Order: sequence, then C-alpha cells, then structure tokens
Amino acid sequence: MPKKIITVKCPFCGSEKVSKNGHNKTGKQVYNCNNPECNHHNFVEEYTYKAYNPEVRQQVLKMAVDCTGIRATGRILGISKDTVTAILKKPKTGRGR
Ligand SMILES: [Zn+2]
Repeated sequence: MPKKIITVKCPFCGSEKVSKNGHNKTGKQVYNCNNPECNHHNFVEEYTYKAYNPEVRQQVLKMAVDCTGIRATGRILGISKDTVTAILKKPKTGRGR
C-alpha cells in the first residue's frame, strides 16, 4: 500500500490547485486556492476535511431538517457557513458522479 496521500481541495471551487500558506492563529494549516475564478483565495485545512466528510454532510442535512440556522450549524460542527451552504445546495442525489 502506498502512503496515504490526502489531496487538498478548495472547499469552495473543488480545485486541487492549492498551495500551503502558513498557519492561522489557531495553528491550523492555511491553503491558498490558485484557481483564478475562485472567490475564496484561502481556506483552512479543517474546513476541507470536514466538508468532504460524509458524516458531517449528514449532520448538516439533518440539522437543516431540524431548522437549525446555517450559521448555528457551522458553529456547532466547526465548519464555515459557506461550507454549510455548499452542502445544502448540493444534496447527494445518488445520480451523476
Ligand atoms: Zn477555490
């Protein structure tokens, strides 16, 4: 088995063209998105990880059903409200990719 490589993707545009950009105040890895069409030029690793975590996705969808606000959902799950919005906009339908 090769070493597990975690591909970092921009949580906002999905681009893999990202570069490391130091750490933020809380010591988390900050990345720069190199996609010129992306409005979010940097993001924190944890956001990416959680946004692509199916369990978090489930939680977000569940909390939306319970009418938890987007901001509250993000705060509770530790993800950005943009990520929450992105998840809610793209519910898993099981078709397509
Ligand atoms: Zn991006």
